[in-house]
Amino acid sequence: MTVARGRQFFQNPGPTNIPDRILRAMDRPALDFMGGEFRAIAEECYAGLRQVFKTDGAIIAYAGNGHGAWEAALVNVFSPGDKVLVPETGYFSLNWGKHAKELGLEVETLPGDWRKGVDPAAVEARLREDKAHTIKAVMQVHNETATGVANRIKEIRQAIDASKHPALYMVDTISSLGSIDFRMDEWQIDIAVGGSQKGLMLPPGMAFTAASAKALKASESAKLPRVYWDWRKLVTSNRQTSFNGTAPVQLFYGLQEAVRMLAEEGLDQVFARHAKLAEATRRAVRAWRGNDGPELYSSDPRTHSNSVTTVLMQEGHDAEKPRGIALDRFNVSLGGGLDKLDKRVFRIGHMGDLNEPMLLGALAAIEMSLLLAGVPHGKGGVAAAMEYLASEGAS
Ligand code: PLP
Repeated sequence: MTVARGRQFFQNPGPTNIPDRILRAMDRPALDFMGGEFRAIAEECYAGLRQVFKTDGAIIAYAGNGHGAWEAALVNVFSPGDKVLVPETGYFSLNWGKHAKELGLEVETLPGDWRKGVDPAAVEARLREDKAHTIKAVMQVHNETATGVANRIKEIRQAIDASKHPALYMVDTISSLGSIDFRMDEWQIDIAVGGSQKGLMLPPGMAFTAASAKALKASESAKLPRVYWDWRKLVTSNRQTSFNGTAPVQLFYGLQEAVRMLAEEGLDQVFARHAKLAEATRRAVRAWRGNDGPELYSSDPRTHSNSVTTVLMQEGHDAEKPRGIALDRFNVSLGGGLDKLDKRVFRIGHMGDLNEPMLLGALAAIEMSLLLAGVPHGKGGVAAAMEYLASEGAS
């Protein structure tokens, strides 16, 4: 058995690195979750989350994961047979749609190019056609974690407005929240879905929905069965006032620390740091593209993701080989390909608690793994990332 020394470089696109501050904050005894001390912690968490979602509206937290938040968003506003439109972006958009179908909704997928992200004009055109307003909602993934493509949420809002369609606008922010700018109120999002384990730097186990007044109104008459996720039991006057069963107390300790950390750094700085690390990653991949090597999966510069980069292998090369070497030989953990991208891509997560040397270490391990896997590629990916990061620091 080999013994690994030093920390694993964890570059998965979720869960992500948990900062020591958050680990220490959670390393505390339990607390009466019905008592005043817990209530004060929870209030600080909700206030912090409102800053992160950029909303004054209701935020509902649950013990659960992203799939739970997906379901919470659906069962609270729809009735059996309601029709929803899912712009196709990749694995996660299709799976949210599948989840809706299994709950008894009629799901229409708006076909899309996985490498480019959603065309707002296509959303507008489809909604304009729907003169009878049978489509009740647009279910949009902000950052498609499978492809490394971040959709243009504000422009899609404008497209919905231009079509004069009343559909609810639902956005999955699971791999964008706290990493890429998202503005719930300004962009008039009706429901935003989030999870703890990505930009919020927490362990998996907490799920969130943020709901507009229009969404809360829709929840009054929705008829899909709902028990655990039922907003009516959890929310009073726009605020979550109760929890179903035992609250995940230690996750709230961690969340309190996370929202403090995000506020200390400043959200704009957080987004700028993600943008810088993402651009450095892309420059490394562009250098590897030399010699007919791997390339960026995202093909439209307007929609490159700042939280995850998906790297497409050239024909005849299995992405699992360099990914396996990175893990086994260098203790660097990367994401694999999902759905039709299985073995075709590997994914470099760069969201949450990350800085330049951590990223450069991971990129160096990937460059060595490409070499050891016998994958032809251009040299100098790490050097290109270093050059960019050094010049950005100076500016
Ligand atoms: N949506 C997106 C965009 C995701 O990236 C993920 C998970 O990676 C999910 C939904 C599902 O979240 P979970 O794995 O916490 O259920």
